[in-house]
Amino acid sequence: GGVVGVATRDVGIGKDGKPKSTFERGVALLARQTLFAEGARGSCTESLVSKFGLRDGRSPQTYGLGIKEVWEIPDANFKSGYVQHTLGYPLQSGPFDMTFGGTFLYHQEPNLVLAGLVVGLDYKDPYLNPYREFQLWKTHPNVRSHFEGGTCISYGARVLNEGGYHSIPKLTFPGGAILGCGAGFLNAVKIKGTHTAMKSGMEAAEAAFEVL
Ligand SMILES: Cc1cc2nc3c(=O)[nH]c(=O)nc-3n(C[C@H](O)[C@H](O)[C@H](O)COP(=O)(O)OP(=O)(O)OC[C@H]3O[C@@H](n4cnc5c(N)ncnc54)[C@H](O)[C@@H]3O)c2cc1C
Repeated sequence: GGVVGVATRDVGIGKDGKPKSTFERGVALLARQTLFAEGARGSCTESLVSKFGLRDGRSPQTYGLGIKEVWEIPDANFKSGYVQHTLGYPLQSGPFDMTFGGTFLYHQEPNLVLAGLVVGLDYKDPYLNPYREFQLWKTHPNVRSHFEGGTCISYGARVLNEGGYHSIPKLTFPGGAILGCGAGFLNAVKIKGTHTAMKSGMEAAEAAFEVL
């Protein structure tokens, strides 16, 4: 068998499982090629990986958790193009501390600070609270000054792939392919995933065009 498209869910179902007046049947979208770009640990993607054995002979994927906030700051504190990456406080207290992770802080036009913390999801201490570590980091004297007088305007958290090249599964299966972080194209060392995701989409589109 192979993938012949995707189906959207039925909507407008009550808590009792029965259709409400707003009920609408899901739609089946049939396609000769279906490209999956669900990001890290995509649910359909993982079904495809196991159904078609796409990870056979490859290393398992590993994951980190990333927390990010966007702050609007006073113009006087804004340093256009400023980039800061850190290891150490608060995740590691010495060179042999095995907790993997670090932080990033960027200033982006017009007056934004994008800041976050990534921690490997293999941390040993069950009491480690990634959000609390992020809050602690923001109190460091060299960090807190960036937020002085500012307001947090958005925030979020998401897993990232950290397995690298050897954890990339077979990318194609009958009827389609997996793209971007769904495939694991994030380069964790370079902290780059956006352009590899876009590039994989472009390559897949070219290849699908040839087939169609
Ligand atoms: C905190 C953090 C900081 C980062 N910083 C950087 C950075 O500075 N530079 C950089 O290059 N990269 C960075 N990355 C990585 C970058 O965000 C990813 O590599 C990139 O977003 C991957 O793109 P994608 O399109 O493959 O997946 P995503 O951007 O994750 O998009 C997948 C989309 O599919 C949707 N989706 C999932 N499943 C389904 C489904 N079944 N049906 C419909 N929709 C679905 C999701 O909701 C999501 O909107 C960072 C990541 C994190 C978490």
